[in-house]
Amino acid sequence: MQYVSTRGDAPPIGFIDAVLAGLAPDGGLYVPQTWPVLTREEIAGFAGKPYAEVAADILGRFAGDAFSREDLLDMTSEAYASFTHAAVTPLRQLDSGLWLLELFHGPTLAFKDVAMQLLSRLYERALAAKKRTLTIVCATSGDTGGAAVEALRGRANLRLVVLFPHGRISEVQRRFMTTAADANVRCLAIDGTFDDCQSIVKAMFQAQGFRQAVDLSGVNSINWARIAAQVVYYFTAGVALGAPHRPVSFTVPTGNFGDAFAGYVARQMGLPIETIVVATNSNDILARAIEDGRYARGPVCATQSPAMDIQIASNFERLYFEVVQRDGLETSRAMRAFAETGSIDLPPRALAQIREVFAGAGVNEADTARAIVSTLNETGELVDPHTAVALAAVYRKGLGKGGAPMIVLSTAHAAKFPEAVSAAAGVEPRLPRSAQGLAGKPERIDRLPADAEAVQAYIRDFAQG
Ligand SMILES: *Cc1c(COP(=O)(O)O)cnc(C)c1O
Repeated sequence: MQYVSTRGDAPPIGFIDAVLAGLAPDGGLYVPQTWPVLTREEIAGFAGKPYAEVAADILGRFAGDAFSREDLLDMTSEAYASFTHAAVTPLRQLDSGLWLLELFHGPTLAFKDVAMQLLSRLYERALAAKKRTLTIVCATSGDTGGAAVEALRGRANLRLVVLFPHGRISEVQRRFMTTAADANVRCLAIDGTFDDCQSIVKAMFQAQGFRQAVDLSGVNSINWARIAAQVVYYFTAGVALGAPHRPVSFTVPTGNFGDAFAGYVARQMGLPIETIVVATNSNDILARAIEDGRYARGPVCATQSPAMDIQIASNFERLYFEVVQRDGLETSRAMRAFAETGSIDLPPRALAQIREVFAGAGVNEADTARAIVSTLNETGELVDPHTAVALAAVYRKGLGKGGAPMIVLSTAHAAKFPEAVSAAAGVEPRLPRSAQGLAGKPERIDRLPADAEAVQAYIRDFAQG
């Protein structure tokens, strides 16, 4: 299986090289040259299989001959043994046609663990073969950072630097990153927004000298392995609710569009998905793009669902590439225009293709809080504010009452956002036992301005020291 860049100006490379590279040298994102397609029988065969086995099968379709089936199964078994629920990503029914897909049973209580636990094992195997030490840099809106620290701390041949927007994440999110005592991990509080952190990271990938000096790699959802790992739970959930014999739909709380794009990939691979609802908070660039055809960024505002306080959704580039018939030149032109002017109009045919799969829904703060309360009152479930954004979209559109089963991705445990949850519902969510030691541990944080050069100098020091 070969990987091509969405900007059409980088040579195709294999799975391992795409994983180690993160971003393509032309600034684009890697995607498989063709989508692997599963037969109905293969999809039906996932029913009742352990999660790790389905994951090894799906990963195998993307990895080609990079890893043996045994290696893949070793990695997925080890990765998902770190989850506290035996089903890894269990479904919970809320209404006649409405389910929550609980993605938060990993070590840092958010869905980022699903991909990161696997990615760290992919890195370790790939690097052991290549005898290299990588510097992994990660921009986080709160949850990716913790998941990356937990997955990569103490691992050989890897160092990790996490950039997060100072003061814009929850205390529990921060502590999952900053309490790691391992020498291969650094946490950097940046005076700026998540978009600033992400731009600083993207600039590093384009600075060729720096990139080589520190042997840079990235674990943001620009990394293809993240998306590939997230495709798995679309299949397990879909099959549990009747696919491939009947279609299913998903509602996805969305920020950087990685998770929602994984749903698109599952559909390309043959899973019958009727609709993917892209639910955003008031940082609604994606919901607006789908609704009115203009992809236009606005100012970032802080919300109860900070992991989605994003106005530049990296993975939208992968979808754009798809709906312009994989024209790399056109994708490159459009992304440059967006970077320069802050907005682009989607070509009518591209927009029509997007709307065949996706619907958009922007949700405000009051409706998010109301969704926490009404879900608690009607079902007894205490949901986190990100999940609540998706549920608010479902309630507003009257979905989940008939037709294709509606599966809402529940992306974090309520106890990761106790301030927002108790303000809305008057109930204090309890941290699971596995996370209760966090509060007492000392934190290690460095702080820098939102300045690409200062951050690069810091990372050079770390890599050489
Ligand atoms: C990262 C995150 C999201 C958004 O996922 P994307 O792949 O960036 O769209 C939603 N909810 C939570 C809890 C997250 O951590």
